[in-house]
Amino acid sequence: HVRKNIRNIAIIAHVDHGKTTLVDKLLQQSGTYRDHEAVQERAMDSNDIERERGITILAKNTAINYKDFLINIVDTPGHADFGGEVERIMKMVDGVLLVVDAYEGCMPQTKFVLRKALEHNLTPIVVVNKIDRPAARPAEVIDEVLDLFIELGANDEQLDFPVVYASALNGTSSLDPEKQDDNMMTLYETIVDHIPHPTESVEEPLQFLVTLMDYNEYLGRIAIGRVNRGVIKQGQPVTVMLRDGGMKSARIEKLFGFQGLKRIEVAEAGAGDIVAIAGIKDINIGETIADPNNPEALPVLKIDEPTLQMTFLVNTSPFAGREGKWVTSRRLRDRLFKELETDVSLRVEETDSPDAYIVSGRGELHLSILIENMRREGYELAVSKPEVIVKEVDGKKMEPIERLLIDIPEDSMGAVMESLGSRKAEMVNMVNSGNGQVRLEFLIPARGLIGYRTNFLTLTRGYGVMNNAFDSYGPLVGGQVGGRHQGVLVSSESGVSTFYGMIGVEDRGTLFLEPGTEVYEGMIVGEHNRDNDIVVNICKEKQLTNVRSASKDDTVKMKTPVIFSLEQALEYLNDDEYCEITPKSVRLRKKIL
Ligand code: GDP
Repeated sequence: HVRKNIRNIAIIAHVDHGKTTLVDKLLQQSGTYRDHEAVQERAMDSNDIERERGITILAKNTAINYKDFLINIVDTPGHADFGGEVERIMKMVDGVLLVVDAYEGCMPQTKFVLRKALEHNLTPIVVVNKIDRPAARPAEVIDEVLDLFIELGANDEQLDFPVVYASALNGTSSLDPEKQDDNMMTLYETIVDHIPHPTESVEEPLQFLVTLMDYNEYLGRIAIGRVNRGVIKQGQPVTVMLRDGGMKSARIEKLFGFQGLKRIEVAEAGAGDIVAIAGIKDINIGETIADPNNPEALPVLKIDEPTLQMTFLVNTSPFAGREGKWVTSRRLRDRLFKELETDVSLRVEETDSPDAYIVSGRGELHLSILIENMRREGYELAVSKPEVIVKEVDGKKMEPIERLLIDIPEDSMGAVMESLGSRKAEMVNMVNSGNGQVRLEFLIPARGLIGYRTNFLTLTRGYGVMNNAFDSYGPLVGGQVGGRHQGVLVSSESGVSTFYGMIGVEDRGTLFLEPGTEVYEGMIVGEHNRDNDIVVNICKEKQLTNVRSASKDDTVKMKTPVIFSLEQALEYLNDDEYCEITPKSVRLRKKIL
């Protein structure tokens, strides 16, 4: 009565440790793709933004046929802004594959997701990948993994994890680090042998928990999740149990299973299957689709409340439309509301102006990923400084406080503590692991975290890891928290083309102005370099005070160009400034409406 031929697993890997290559190889060797069918879309993180930020954002499903087994692999996002999503994915699977580079070993970024997996009692398999690397040090890497499991509170069964050594690049695997077999057989077999099959019964009344959302112009909302109990059929009438306790009738218009990277229509599916359902209008994450004769809701899934908001505006600068194709308020509105179809942690509110919308989300990364996606799709827009959402409790203003957990090298502790002190963080715990790493725990007003990530990575030379999650509301602390920009930054408003000549490595130190360039005080300008970081020049304040416009021969002395992330640029915004974002450049300027 249960589906013994299904395995549902989540995959956890630090960026570049080979997750995509591994899943590609598993697909290829299993013949889930027929030979003539090229693997066109690479498995897993096909999104550049994810790669650049060292995280994965969208959970994607891959399904692999091996012998008569169906192995569903769900990708996990690695950042705490998506903690709610990770939590939901963990409820959808029975095991995890932890992919670790045989040379680099455990990277702390994977800890956050691994901790969640262990807490949910999932069965782990460790894949030591890139075993072909000449500098591979598998024995040490396994020791590190074991230490990490102990630190994260793994139980005895979890500590007994199987290890598969593999080279995803060469398509080889084995239980022996010294000798690789010519295929991925060992990995398939380990998954099939060790990961528990679903234990839910197909003979009980239907229950399906909506865990992830997708959206498609033709099908509308698509609910993805695991059939928890019973059988689901195309055309079947169902009852939707709403989050607020209400219910409504609906019908399964279309039902899909997964095959390889594609969704394929299926007539029916049963307990343990991961499926996608289309045709239920307004369906949302956390709702249960149930048998109308036995409508029972599954426990409601936690959805993180938004803690941060920004105003998104139409770019009204005189240069609007030069770089992007989507510039009208109508376009902006449609795009924002479309995002709501798939992102439950996002809110969009209209304002008195048709050109402005208030967008609330889980954190800076969450909102900046939306901005970054829009920019790459060709939108021009302007955004305000992010601000935390203050709540009124018993007539008192309360602000969100986050619990911040950081793992840092011991030698960067002084600098990190100082930077957090100025952001009104309060240390609540400290553990020195004795291996040169320390873990510190803080309570910090959410606004203190705005723009902190980049600063933190600089202070820890990239070795620090920070994770934060909402803790509570606390009294609003007065005074300044976080940074303000010190230098005066300039922009050339003469058009995009001029930026490219002006801001380059050869021109370091001097901003050459094109004819007709106007220089406003209090503006930052940047352009996106090849890595899509924002490169800005900071001008020396004194030399700008009298410059309102400049001619060809004028130059403005610059300090060394600095590289910004979008999050950092947003931090530098003052309250009365906006950040104009176009596909090619970023400008910070005073009021634009
Ligand atoms: P992801 O970010 O985890 O999805 O990593 P990718 O699968 O994109 O791999 C990152 C890089 O590592 C790519 O250049 C791969 O070719 C390389 N890579 C992946 N697996 C292996 C492996 O087994 N051995 C070696 N030497 N390189 C690998």
